[in-house]
Amino acid sequence: MANNFIESIVENDLETGVHSEIITRFPPEPNGYLHIGHAKSLCINFGIKEKYHGKCNLRFDDTNPTKEDVEYVDSIKEDIRWLGFEWDEERFASDYFGQMYDFAVQLIKQGDAYVCDLSADEIRETRGSLTEPGKESPYRNRSIEENLRLFEEMRAGKYPDGSKVLRAKIDMASNNLNMRDPVIYRILRATHHHTGDAWLLYPMYDFAHPIEDAIENITHSICTLEFEDHRPLYDWMTEHCGFVKPPHQYEFARLNIRNAIMSKRYLKKLVETGVVDGWDDPRMPTISGMRKRGYTPEAIRAFCAEVGVAKANSEVDPAVLEHCVRDDLNAHADRIMAVEEPLLVVLDNVGDEIESLNVVNNPNDPASGTHIIRFAKEIYIERSDFAVVPPPKYHRLVPGGMVRLKGAYILQYVSHKEENGVVSEVHCNVIPDSKEGGVNAGIKVKGVIQWVSKFDAVPAVLNKYECLLLDEVDGNKEFDDRINPHSLEVVRGAFVEAWALERQEGDRFQFMRSAYYKLAEKKNGEILFYRIVGLKDSYNK
Ligand code: ATP
Ligand code: MG
Repeated sequence: MANNFIESIVENDLETGVHSEIITRFPPEPNGYLHIGHAKSLCINFGIKEKYHGKCNLRFDDTNPTKEDVEYVDSIKEDIRWLGFEWDEERFASDYFGQMYDFAVQLIKQGDAYVCDLSADEIRETRGSLTEPGKESPYRNRSIEENLRLFEEMRAGKYPDGSKVLRAKIDMASNNLNMRDPVIYRILRATHHHTGDAWLLYPMYDFAHPIEDAIENITHSICTLEFEDHRPLYDWMTEHCGFVKPPHQYEFARLNIRNAIMSKRYLKKLVETGVVDGWDDPRMPTISGMRKRGYTPEAIRAFCAEVGVAKANSEVDPAVLEHCVRDDLNAHADRIMAVEEPLLVVLDNVGDEIESLNVVNNPNDPASGTHIIRFAKEIYIERSDFAVVPPPKYHRLVPGGMVRLKGAYILQYVSHKEENGVVSEVHCNVIPDSKEGGVNAGIKVKGVIQWVSKFDAVPAVLNKYECLLLDEVDGNKEFDDRINPHSLEVVRGAFVEAWALERQEGDRFQFMRSAYYKLAEKKNGEILFYRIVGLKDSYNK
């Protein structure tokens, strides 16, 4: 069953015998790291490959040497693999520069392309508008022989950058501006990360892309809606280059998430201006940022499925992505206890003995096993779990009250100390036999709180993240004015169960009653955690 309109087209093409094998491609430009928008395109293209037993190529669309770099090539490959996709062929658009040049010569010979000496500004000015036709270039009717000679000389380096271009000869009066003699080659002296200095002529996207697709026998060339108006040009190119079974372009709505930046250019600016620590900063909407933060590939793929594939642009609430991350972690993350702002509780009726308690790692996953928590006379609880003057509906520890310690006993308040109006210590008694299954376990207490024994508590630093961008105010869409100055909060002085020391960097946990965290780093007996996502879900399906 097709999950979206593109899959319906694919199924129809298979049923009617238009194609016997489906080949798609993912064509990133290596000018930045992949972001969550790219994940959607990856899920569509690789999803079709997997579902219909076809192929999907990874093709680096590297026709802008000044903006591209191998660093980006490497990161893109790493991110795609991490998401769990496997490409068939790995290609570079620049692998085809020689063939593209030959196609350009063919177009010239057919009278379908000409060398134009207008400057970039002049070309723009003579292009016309939606209401006015464009003006034909004075160079439009150069002879085929002259065009061949000039183009050859352009390649040989006879002319300076920007002084001449090759244009397709289509229709300066077309209703579609893309068809008004688009530029297909430019002169640019730049070292290319893949082809070095072999070329100083570089093809333009609208010429290169359909040829790349056609050379690779792509059947369905899937791109975002901005390219809908380019489709006639795409078809013109494959037809005039003489491909017999040309690929077809299909457009879907790009993914937009409220308050998330989905433009590599701007993400790069955030990196370069030091707003974030790098492309993989856990606050970045990049795949590498999400990986570092602790999101799982499964969660990202579930999100792309949840959002679906539409033909109309829309904006997705960030709560949808968080919902998918939380859902996955809820099923797979082990539970652990931590206190962010510790308050010491002394258990007056407990001696110096230490009791080992066995607790389930993840109640949602029977295979997750159990671990030991050690219970002793002095414990830490969360400062906010004790209130001298409790607000309404406060079900935690209060003077005269009782509370249950998660996985352990019920406590009965005895007394507390204050220093300068701040509670410094609470004294309680443990109600004997009040552990789960004990004779006193049935005593009615409303609150259950987390705790950590003082003697083996592990110091922790918590990196908590908020949105990089604040909501638009007064319709101001400028990213620069919306940078959230508090997108990272570092909490020091927290404690976590000793079990964390036995765990690996990269492990994900639910800090009970708090949030999901990733163990980022263990250093000198202290552990750094990244907050992945909160526990509370604000997404209404
Ligand atoms: P940017 O403007 O951020 O540079 P791009 O579209 O130029 O993005 P490419 O590297 O050309 O980035 O994208 C590779 C593929 O990913 C393209 O097929 C593109 O359509 C798709 N893609 C990019 N951004 C999104 C998005 N937000 N939603 C869905 N698909 C996207
Ligand atoms: Mg692009």
